[in-house]
Amino acid sequence: MFEVTNRLNHQGGLLASGFVEKLWSRACAGFWVRACLIAFGVVFFTAKAEAAFTTVIIDAGHGGHDLGASRSLIYEKHLNLDVARRLERTLKESGFRTVLTRKTDAFVPLSTRSARANKYRNAIFVSIHFNWSWKSKVTGVETFYRSSSSRSLANYIQKQLISRIGCTNRGVKTANFSVLRKTRHPAVLVEGGFVSNKGERSSMLDPRYRQVVADSIARGILEYRKKR
Ligand SMILES: [Zn+2]
Repeated sequence: MFEVTNRLNHQGGLLASGFVEKLWSRACAGFWVRACLIAFGVVFFTAKAEAAFTTVIIDAGHGGHDLGASRSLIYEKHLNLDVARRLERTLKESGFRTVLTRKTDAFVPLSTRSARANKYRNAIFVSIHFNWSWKSKVTGVETFYRSSSSRSLANYIQKQLISRIGCTNRGVKTANFSVLRKTRHPAVLVEGGFVSNKGERSSMLDPRYRQVVADSIARGILEYRKKR
């Protein structure tokens, strides 16, 4: 009798523990479903927020004692700021809010540039540079990005630059530049030609060329916003 009761109790215990296990596994499954839904929601709404960017942070490379690429008293820092200001005007006309990381010929540390950019929400970041090579024959335009979320922005800008300038297409490339690494928005860095090449250098001295560079970047930004 004792043995029978004991066995029954034991079976009852097994039944009870099976029931608890089922409840537990359902609770776990429910948890993971909810966790997945929340994760999906975060990704979806973050992507939506990026798509709806309203601010463009324009970063004119170098400045102050940091001349950037130079040749015969032509300094990259001046070209960068000029194109940045032209881009600012064009983007404002298209209804964007714009922020310049530097407005004058001043030295701004790289970490300050990305820190300023990160204060804004719903923004993208575009850094403007001109290139330099020891080999004076090297020419062309290239656009850098770091995170995968920045890749399509780089593609749109590069495509516009090449079709409007008609120069050597050096392509869209990844790089671990500080401003790309530390800026939390989609971020790209444009190299609008080589100061070290005589032909491209003389183009850069023409304000019409700098306007075309600015307009191409602006067009790329508009295409990026439209196609997202
Ligand atoms: Zn530069």
